[in-house]
Amino acid sequence: MIRRRMLFSSLVAVCLMAVLFRCSRQTTDTFPVTRDILQEIKAAVQDETSEIDFHKKGALRKYLLTGWTHVNGGPVHTQGEDSRLVFYHLNESRNLRAAVTWRDMAEGSADKTFPAIELNGKPVGSFPVGSVSTTLDLTFPAQAVKQGQNVLGIRPEVSKSPATAPRSLIVERIAFERPSPIGKQSLAQPAAAAMSYFIELPDRFALDIDCQCFKDVRPSVELSDEKGRTVTIDLPRGGGPFQKTVRLKREGINRLRLVAKGGMGGYVVWSRIALKTRPSKVVIPLPRPVSPPPKKPDIVLYVIDALRADHLGCYGYGRQTTPSIDRFARENALYRNAYSNSAWTKPASASLFTGLFPKNHMTQRIKDCLPESAVTMAEELGKNGYRTAAVVGNEVLDPQFGIGRGFEAFQVRATSSKINQEAFRFLDSLLPRKDRKPLFLLIWAADPHAPYTPDPEFRNLFDIRRYEPIDALKGSELISRIRNEKIRPTPGQWEYLKTLYDQEVAFNDSSFGRLRAYLEDKDVYRDAVVIVTADHGEAFNEHGDVGHGCSLHNELIRVPLIIKAPPLSKGSHEERVQHTDLFPTLLDLLGLEPPYPLDGTSLLRLTDPKRILFFDLSNYNSTAVLDEKKIIFTNANHAALTTVPSLEVYALTDTAEERPLELESFRDQISLQKLLFYRNTPGQFGSQGREAKITKELEEKLKALGYIN
Ligand SMILES: [Zn+2]
Repeated sequence: MIRRRMLFSSLVAVCLMAVLFRCSRQTTDTFPVTRDILQEIKAAVQDETSEIDFHKKGALRKYLLTGWTHVNGGPVHTQGEDSRLVFYHLNESRNLRAAVTWRDMAEGSADKTFPAIELNGKPVGSFPVGSVSTTLDLTFPAQAVKQGQNVLGIRPEVSKSPATAPRSLIVERIAFERPSPIGKQSLAQPAAAAMSYFIELPDRFALDIDCQCFKDVRPSVELSDEKGRTVTIDLPRGGGPFQKTVRLKREGINRLRLVAKGGMGGYVVWSRIALKTRPSKVVIPLPRPVSPPPKKPDIVLYVIDALRADHLGCYGYGRQTTPSIDRFARENALYRNAYSNSAWTKPASASLFTGLFPKNHMTQRIKDCLPESAVTMAEELGKNGYRTAAVVGNEVLDPQFGIGRGFEAFQVRATSSKINQEAFRFLDSLLPRKDRKPLFLLIWAADPHAPYTPDPEFRNLFDIRRYEPIDALKGSELISRIRNEKIRPTPGQWEYLKTLYDQEVAFNDSSFGRLRAYLEDKDVYRDAVVIVTADHGEAFNEHGDVGHGCSLHNELIRVPLIIKAPPLSKGSHEERVQHTDLFPTLLDLLGLEPPYPLDGTSLLRLTDPKRILFFDLSNYNSTAVLDEKKIIFTNANHAALTTVPSLEVYALTDTAEERPLELESFRDQISLQKLLFYRNTPGQFGSQGREAKITKELEEKLKALGYIN
């Protein structure tokens, strides 16, 4: 009897194990692909404002708009009748709870005052404040909360006596109830702060979740599609590991909502949210192999500093600014949708030379130095038998910053005609040698870069006398004066500035023509790979700014890109391309492997003409994504910049970016999430970024160019 019972219980144990084993094996076998959703969600909430601490005065520039002041180290307080601040809320709208700690500035006053609070111009209510610090708990309804930047207004109680100044309030702290990352692995979600994440789901998959609940919170996950069909998955009370296979009516984008029902102070700590799926059935055709050329070609990279694509004839400009480049474009591959990965010389050139996104090469601020482990185009070509020379018109490229690393000869000359002279001198010494090595020549001409001081020969082009003149000869000073609103050019003066710029472009184009003629004369041109591009564009008040480095709008990131390289077909190419593609393209042309995975793709192997591109501008804390729409997220210091909205959405057909849209579809939400994931995950070289130790001489030159104050 005892034996039979033992046998029975062992049988049960074996069966149970078999069942468990089958369960776990079934999930592992059926859904072998795991995606860590929790890390993506954490990246998507990182830019949300959790707390504004008014004791940290330095950090307040990011939040305070108008109506705030402080005296002699005293506390920051409201001033006047309308005090405003901004905070960022990036998750899809939900009721938002906030705690405001504040007091009346009039010390010892017995009576209370009733200031009003507004959110995005909508009244929230009036609340009592005395001279003792108190914390007010507020709930902003979902309809009033915007995705992106929100403006919180505080209006002191209106005095019955018009002669009395509005009472000032000292705000000490504003805390927002929002999910917050804990360490590397977890995310804490307060009760009631539901959180949405948008995700493309197959019809069958498994969710693998682990969480811990505190203070009697009941967690669940809701999946709903754009038609509102919802599946609710209740998780175990108290949390713990949980796995569930889900079947949906059809595959598509769903809103995954993490819900935590419970009272005040309750919260859930999520330590794992993984999506387990089958491998994708999409078969990507293998790119055709590229056979390396029998002889390594000479390579000429011609970069024009600050030349926006829409000011070249071959990109549809009405003025004949670029006859030589237009001719070059007619004979070669012209990329209509080419982008710089940033909007000023330093990060843009580093992306161009390394094939890495700005967040990965970490060379974004004026004194940043390219990490030692990053490999430049010139270094790689030099290693593969090339002679390398650079003649540039911009000190930002100096080898002291690492960007110009790998050039055996590096010279700086002011104008493109002087750059040509220097380049010809170098080539004259190199080309006549028998069995000479192949050549990599970088020409980086800065003529269109401010100051707009065209060569006298070009000063009468494009009927400039039609426009109202403005003294443009002060260069970077003019730009800073316009930015500080010390000068407000009239529409005619903007046209005048653009015309000076176009004259500079025309001057540059004539230099390009001379370089080409020289290379043809020396029999170098015919077999050479020649690339013409610009590091970034230039703004003329399209979005309220001038010069460059100020935003990620199209006037600043759309650049010309024309390539003479036999495998690339002649004519107009519509696919999206970016600067990070150039390094892998050159390596591919030579049959070389990249030194490590690059962010760009060889233009010889583009399989997705609509792939997602990313752009960074660290000085304005701005990131952009180009997906089905273009989205720009900017989290700037408002003391420096008050007019830029934090979230801009544009249709791709709106190339002038004049008609901002809202985030409308689930697809738009996915694009924003991709932007935030790109922005908030660590770069390729971790913490290797560093400041360059530059010479006094270089510092002075950078000051003269307006890069350092
Ligand atoms: Zn530049």
